[in-house]
Amino acid sequence: MRLHWKTRAAPAAFRSVASRSVALRSVALLLLAPLVALALLAGCGVDSDSGAGSGGDDERPRVLTTFTVIADLVREVGGDRVEVASITKPGAEIHGYEPTPSDLRNAAGADLILWNGLDLERWFEQFIDTAGAENAILTEGIEPIPIAGTSEYAGKPNPHAWMSPENAAVYLDNIAAALTELDPDGAAAYERNAAKFKREVTVVGERARTALDGLEPHRRLLVTCEGAFSYLARDLGLREAYIWPVNAEQEGTPGQIAATVEAARESEVPAVFCESTVSDEAMQQVASEAGTELAGTLYVDSLSEADGPVPTYLELLRHDIDTIADALAADAGAADAGAADAGDADGR
Ligand SMILES: [Zn+2]
Repeated sequence: MRLHWKTRAAPAAFRSVASRSVALRSVALLLLAPLVALALLAGCGVDSDSGAGSGGDDERPRVLTTFTVIADLVREVGGDRVEVASITKPGAEIHGYEPTPSDLRNAAGADLILWNGLDLERWFEQFIDTAGAENAILTEGIEPIPIAGTSEYAGKPNPHAWMSPENAAVYLDNIAAALTELDPDGAAAYERNAAKFKREVTVVGERARTALDGLEPHRRLLVTCEGAFSYLARDLGLREAYIWPVNAEQEGTPGQIAATVEAARESEVPAVFCESTVSDEAMQQVASEAGTELAGTLYVDSLSEADGPVPTYLELLRHDIDTIADALAADAGAADAGAADAGDADGR
């Protein structure tokens, strides 16, 4: 049985989305066609041979996601009505992921696959063709921010739309709509869960803006390894600089490092950052040459393991926002002294 609807993000990504309700309606229409077949499939229960996380007698709909961040959002909305798993594991690099045969077996047992789109999972379209499972894209209705610069990615949509408390509401609405089509009896629960979680995300977003209030304009620069923070920077009123636009094989070239050093020096930022899923070696070099400090690890493309610092989406947002706010708001006098001592910076 092949109940496959597909929404492609690429060329449509820059078309202005008239309103979220229109976008959601399009999602709803896409979801409507296979409804009858989905109902049949739900009646079949979960294939207990499908592996990973499938608990034999568990008859709940099985929802597969492409990465851990989306999985957590789906758990928040789905509550105990759905079983949720992520194809990629905590700490995995998502952009260049290479699916395994067992990933495909797991996907074949899923009732629904939810993914980000906006070119994040460049491996996914081929994957879904092979897996043949139903799927829905969660960035429908989000206005993409184009990637800046002159690299091969320039002008393409920045895929990291979940890194925005404001965008999270769109993800949550899209998840609730997709789960409702899969399991209409859960409609009220999904709507209630999504609304509750939106309020929690809003609180985190407001706390972030408060934390950065009063930061001098020239220090409002977020310097990271990957250009993954365009949406968060927009929400927080920060400019951004980064070494490479999207995690890929060629990253941290001498030219990219020199440009990032220049940006950090010009703004005299007290701190720069790198992300958990990549090596911070290039950023150590930037920090050393710019006379600033590598202030900590940010999380964006993956949650941590359950006993790590960011096992949930909310904790990821809180961790990143606190790390950024604490470091950028650090005492200006100390930062200036650090810049003056740039020659000694590599002695740290
Ligand atoms: Zn990324």
